[in-house]
Amino acid sequence: MAIQKNVYFFGKGKAEGDAKMKMILGGKGANLAEMTNLGIPVPPGFTISTDVCAAYYENKNKYPKGIKEEVEAGLKKLESVMKKKLGDPNDPLLVSVRSGAAVSMPGMMDTILNLGMSDKSVKGLANKTGNPRFAWDAYRRLIQMYGDVVMGVEHKLFEEALELVKKNKKVELDTELDASDLEKLVEEYKKIVKKHTGKDFPQNPLDQLWGATNAVFGSWMCERAIKYRQIEDIKGLKGTAVNIQSMVFGNFGEDSGTGVCFSRDPSTGINEFYGEYLMNAQGEDVVAGIRTPERISTLERKNPTIYKQLVGIKNRLEKYFKDMQDMEFTVQQGELFILQTRNGKRAGTAAVKCAVDMVAEGLIDKNTAIMRVTPTHLDQLLHPMIEPKAQKDAKALTRGLNASPGAATGRIVFNAKDAEAWNARGEKVLLVRKETSPEDIGGMVASQGILTSTGGMTSHAAVVARGMGTPCVAGAKSVLVQGHTVDIGGKMFKEGDWITIDGSSGEVYEGKLPLVAAAISKDMNTFLKWCDEVRAKSVRGNIKGFDVRTNADQPDDAKRAFDFGAQGIGLCRTEHMFFDKDKLIHFRAMIVAENEEERKVQLKKILPLQQKDFFGIFKAMEGRPVVIRLLDPPLHEFVPHTKEEIAELAGHLNIDKDKLSAKIDTLIESNPMLGHRGCRLAVTYPEIYDMQVEAIAHAAAECAKQKIPVHPEIMIPIVVTARELKLLRPNAEKILNKVFTAAGVKVPVHIGTMIEVPRAAIRSGHIAEYADFFSFGTNDLTQMTFAFSRDDVASFLPIYLQKNVLDVDPFKSIDEDGVGGLIELAIKEGRNKKADLKIGICGEHGGDPATIDFCYRVGLSYVSCSPFRVPLARLAGAQAVISNSGKNIMGGGSGKTKPAAASVKGSKNPAKGDTKMAVTSAKKPAAKKAAKKTGAKKTTAKKPAAKKKTAAKKPAAKKATAKKPAAKKKTAAKKPAAKKTAAKKPAAKKAAAKKPAL
Ligand code: PEP
Ligand code: MG
Repeated sequence: MAIQKNVYFFGKGKAEGDAKMKMILGGKGANLAEMTNLGIPVPPGFTISTDVCAAYYENKNKYPKGIKEEVEAGLKKLESVMKKKLGDPNDPLLVSVRSGAAVSMPGMMDTILNLGMSDKSVKGLANKTGNPRFAWDAYRRLIQMYGDVVMGVEHKLFEEALELVKKNKKVELDTELDASDLEKLVEEYKKIVKKHTGKDFPQNPLDQLWGATNAVFGSWMCERAIKYRQIEDIKGLKGTAVNIQSMVFGNFGEDSGTGVCFSRDPSTGINEFYGEYLMNAQGEDVVAGIRTPERISTLERKNPTIYKQLVGIKNRLEKYFKDMQDMEFTVQQGELFILQTRNGKRAGTAAVKCAVDMVAEGLIDKNTAIMRVTPTHLDQLLHPMIEPKAQKDAKALTRGLNASPGAATGRIVFNAKDAEAWNARGEKVLLVRKETSPEDIGGMVASQGILTSTGGMTSHAAVVARGMGTPCVAGAKSVLVQGHTVDIGGKMFKEGDWITIDGSSGEVYEGKLPLVAAAISKDMNTFLKWCDEVRAKSVRGNIKGFDVRTNADQPDDAKRAFDFGAQGIGLCRTEHMFFDKDKLIHFRAMIVAENEEERKVQLKKILPLQQKDFFGIFKAMEGRPVVIRLLDPPLHEFVPHTKEEIAELAGHLNIDKDKLSAKIDTLIESNPMLGHRGCRLAVTYPEIYDMQVEAIAHAAAECAKQKIPVHPEIMIPIVVTARELKLLRPNAEKILNKVFTAAGVKVPVHIGTMIEVPRAAIRSGHIAEYADFFSFGTNDLTQMTFAFSRDDVASFLPIYLQKNVLDVDPFKSIDEDGVGGLIELAIKEGRNKKADLKIGICGEHGGDPATIDFCYRVGLSYVSCSPFRVPLARLAGAQAVISNSGKNIMGGGSGKTKPAAASVKGSKNPAKGDTKMAVTSAKKPAAKKAAKKTGAKKTTAKKPAAKKKTAAKKPAAKKATAKKPAAKKKTAAKKPAAKKTAAKKPAAKKAAAKKPAL
């Protein structure tokens, strides 16, 4: 049996690994190996594989046999290549020990630099380099990092000691301390270590090496790393690799330096060399945001040779990896070394621009470009911006770096804990700090935006905010945080005050400026057109194309969705139209009517108002298909609830208030979601749907007369049996014919149904006989399949997710095994009956990328989602086409074919069984949060009425639930009857044998 290799060497132009080995070597280790093979100057070293991390945890934090020997053999090889020995008293080899998982987790795990320094070797290094200051500085940095990371001494104790030395010497900068100051500091640091751990700082370099290695493996499971993986939905990794690499020093003097650079601007995507560096500094100084670094362009002037070399390497690496690179470099006494390269994290704007430009440059093809942009990137692009007029009128308090685009407004908080706490109680907060650090991750997620006074474009705040799509202004020098107050451009603010930031321009404003949705840029338009082409060209069996429609109830929503690229309306919920003030009173009057005649009188008043709405929507969609769903929610949702509302209606109808209240009471249901709703309303009161169909017919006829192309489709909701359609469809057809004949026009109108009840999915073959199309109402289908009330899941679903009882929220991403199984069955049965049955989805899932992939695999013709998610769905649909190409996705009818995993992160769960743990899932909490945030903001900005409506729904439903005791009794009392029905079944079956089953 082959012995597993655990340690991979790289150095002197040859490496044992390569870029393809990310899962084993981590991203950093794999790319260090690849760069070594390419002949790029990389300090030699070796990588301990992620398998060792997994084994370390399986083995209760101990290494399996043989690992120690393999690592120490790796060290020997490194010593021989470097011609130095770790910790040698005369000429010590010093190494860095760094983490690096397959998916980059910037700053989340531990790093130790300068390992190998000791009381003896510090002197050797001082002699060898002729630079005692440098040697003592390296030693004190090691004790500080090692003491904190490995030995658990509070970081601030070292900082305090350093500050004291500077204070005593009356200097401000670390660089103003000389060798003897630093030597004294080392003594002080060692005392701190002894005092707080009871142990001496280890002098044996091998002890140091193992201590650091254990700490790096240990940091894989530290709280912030776990939290980051949760937020970024990073699953399925074995652990982190550990990279042990010979040190190069950027703090050797003024001819040394260190920096971070990107082959293109990670904020805008513009193809220009972008980055920052600090002379006489170690790498941590740049990312920590403690000193504000210089822009890379100034290096051209200061050191043209190094600049030219760096530009050459970044061009080469970008061409080689065919993607924007994020590199770390160090210059030691005029010699350049590359310490890391990886595909750069980028903001949404940059993702789209890079994709579009790289296609134009011939670097990648369109399909690759489409796979490079994530739905989250697009979502960021639709982030709100400050309403242009308000921005023009407002005066910016100050300006910092435009670190992460989009605008945000919120109340000032000064630390991550407060951000989380305020957010939990529903406050919108803006985190204002000198700098952020990995511990702040929870607070950063909870914030609308981030403002820092130090740090550059590659500081922690900037990198993390960009990754999360949170607007960020970094390095705003005139932001001076002083405890729980902050001076912004000369004006004092305290905790809780509102400010607004514009992460696209770097500006900071006082107060709460209005935000509006961003428009689609030229690049985004080009990019999304490519996505449309891919979807349009797709073929699955006899289904050509994969469309994106929208759910819109108002002409302006329809217009917005159309501007965002919607190919039609997949769901127009007509009940939202009834909440309109003008219609509501008549509608309420209709509901409480005592008889059909009274009802018809009221419906007549609503008809022209509905007709106007439909006409507006048809006009906005310019001939695209518009699915109008006839009234769905329970009637009681419309009845007046407050005393004032009841009095108003009583006055309108000229009847007694108490009599009206009694009538309203009869409409209250115990289980409204399972009550008198959907087509059940039309079975009992046909005149309601008749009025709606008539309004649609008149609006369509009007369009036809005005030569406006029109394509209405009528959808009947909550169908459970084909007999409902058999009863209702002819009514609708009769009315359509009558109106069109009278108007002398011909408008083809399809009549279809929603599949949103499990029974309908099971009986879909029969239902298809009376339906021209199906649309899956997955909100109800999920509710009814799980028996989880849509309105009440919040009390238990989070715990289900936390305890891994469910992998994902089934109301956000389709439950493929359960609800998905019903969908597949319905498609199969429906298309067996009618091969060309058009089938779509209109539940909220229609805007979820993982669900869109599922919809493509099972053969849906289109997805429909809210207007703001249309661009995202256009992309996710194209990605589904590309990642499933070449697979037999509709063969065999299993629908279980999973898409290719583009990367570990965001790929599908290959074992999504009920009992199997998720290896990884397509869901992305951060993205979701972003989507939710954006959606919510947009709704707040644009649609207060809609929000109210939705909100108005809930109390009613809850009220009904509150009445449950009575309801329970009723239900319980009913049970024997239900049994009776069951007992009747044989007879029913007999009947079925005679008649076609419905
Ligand atoms: C659904 O049930 O998925 C649906 C779209 O209908 P509604 O959300 O209006 O119940
Ligand atoms: Mg529904």
